[in-house]
Amino acid sequence: MVRIELKNISKSFRRFKALKNISLEIKDKEYFIILGPTGAGKTTLLKIVTGLIKPDSGDIIFNGKKVTDKTSGERNLGFMFENYALFPHMNVVKNISYSGRVHARDSTQTQTLVEQVLMMTLLTGRNDAFPEELSGGMKQRVALCRALLNLEQTKLLILDEPLKALDAGLRMSLRRELLQMAKSKELNLTVIHVTNDEQEAMMVADRIAIMNEGKLIQIGTPHEIYYHPNNLFVANFMSEINYFEGICIKNKEPTWDIHKKSKQGDMFFAQIHEDSVPMPLDLGFEDMYAAFVREDIYHDINHGDEVLLVVRANHFKIRLGDRVKEKKNALLGKIIRRKFMGVFYRFEVLININGKKKIIVVTIPATSEVHNSFVENSEVTIYFPKELGIVFKHPGKEIINEIFKLE
Ligand code: ATP
Repeated sequence: MVRIELKNISKSFRRFKALKNISLEIKDKEYFIILGPTGAGKTTLLKIVTGLIKPDSGDIIFNGKKVTDKTSGERNLGFMFENYALFPHMNVVKNISYSGRVHARDSTQTQTLVEQVLMMTLLTGRNDAFPEELSGGMKQRVALCRALLNLEQTKLLILDEPLKALDAGLRMSLRRELLQMAKSKELNLTVIHVTNDEQEAMMVADRIAIMNEGKLIQIGTPHEIYYHPNNLFVANFMSEINYFEGICIKNKEPTWDIHKKSKQGDMFFAQIHEDSVPMPLDLGFEDMYAAFVREDIYHDINHGDEVLLVVRANHFKIRLGDRVKEKKNALLGKIIRRKFMGVFYRFEVLININGKKKIIVVTIPATSEVHNSFVENSEVTIYFPKELGIVFKHPGKEIINEIFKLE
C-alpha cells in the first residue's frame, strides 16, 4: 500500500517562495497528476516527495509514517526527473539495470523485465547504444525504463514530465502504455506525474492537482476540474475559453424559463450540475442570460454583484444567420477567421456588446461537410447551453489582464 500525505509544505530558495503551504493526500493506487505552468513549483514539490530536497517546514508522510527526515534511498520509490541523469559511459541496458534494487532480482527476471520495458518504449535494438548516440526523446525513454525497473514493493512511481521531449505520436502511445502499466494487475502502481500538458493530465489522471506560483489551486477529478473550475486561472488552463463581464440579477423574472434543463443531452447536463441552480445574468445585451451554478456559488454572489461568465470555446453552438430570437443565451456575430485544426474547426466570431467589439472563439468537431458553409464573413448565431456556463465573482481587471496576457 502507498498512501502519501503532504502537510503544510513550504520551501524558499533564498527569498523566493517556491512552495507556499501545500497540503494534499495521494491515495493508494492513484494516478495523480500535478499540473501547472512553468515555474509553478511542480518539480520542487516532487523533489520534496522523493527526498532529494528538504522542505523548510511541513511534513511528508508515507503510509502514516513521517519520512520528512529520511533520505531518498530510504523512501523506496522509482523516479525520473527532467534531466534524465544517464551515465555517459554505460550503454542503454547498463543504464537501466544499474541499481542495487534491479540486481537484487534474479538475472532471468531482470532480463525479461529489461526486454519488456525496452519494447514498450520502442527502444528494442538500441541495447548497446550510449547516451551520446541517442536523441533527446530516446534518452527520456531510457530514463523512464530505469524508473520502471527501480520500482520495488512500494510500487510508487514518480515522473517529472516523462513525455516532454517526444513527438506527438510517441507521446500518445506512451501515455496509453503508462496508464495501462500503472493500472495493470501485476503492478498496480501509485503514480505521481508532473506535467504542464492538460491533455496528458486528462488522459491519465485519476485526480489532478493544479498549481500556480507555488500554491495549490484546486484538486479534483478531470471532470470536476473541467466543469467546476475554482477560478478563472483553472478554467483557462484546461482549454480555450471566452469570458463576459456582467451583473448578477436575482430580483427580476427572466423572460424565458431558465429553470428548465436544456433538451440536448439532459442526462449529461444533469450529471454535471446535480446540485445547481440557474443564475440570471445581465451581460449588457438586450436579452437576459443564465448559467447553472453550484448552490454555494449562487449564495456567495449577491444581486447586483459584478460577475464573470466563462464559456469554453467548444461549448458554444453555431448556426448560420440571425436566429437569436429562437435560441437562448444567444449572440449574433460574424465569422472573421476560420481555421481547420484537424479534429475541429476554430472560428473567431466578432460580436458587438453595446458598441464595443469582442472576439469570441468557437470550436466545433470537424466531422461534417456542413461546416463548409461556415465561411469567413458569414453572419452567425452562437449560443451556449446554460448548464455549461461557468460563473465566478468578478476577480478584478488585474487578474483578467494577467491571465489573458492583456496590456
Ligand atoms: P517547469 O514546468 O518549468 O519545470 P516547475 O513548476 O517544475 O516548472 P520548479 O522547477 O519547481 O517549477 O521551480 C519553481 C520556482 O522555484 C522557479 O521560479 C524556479 O526558478 C525556482 N527554483 C527551483 N529550484 C531552485 C533552486 N535550486 N534555486 C533557486 N531557485 C529555484
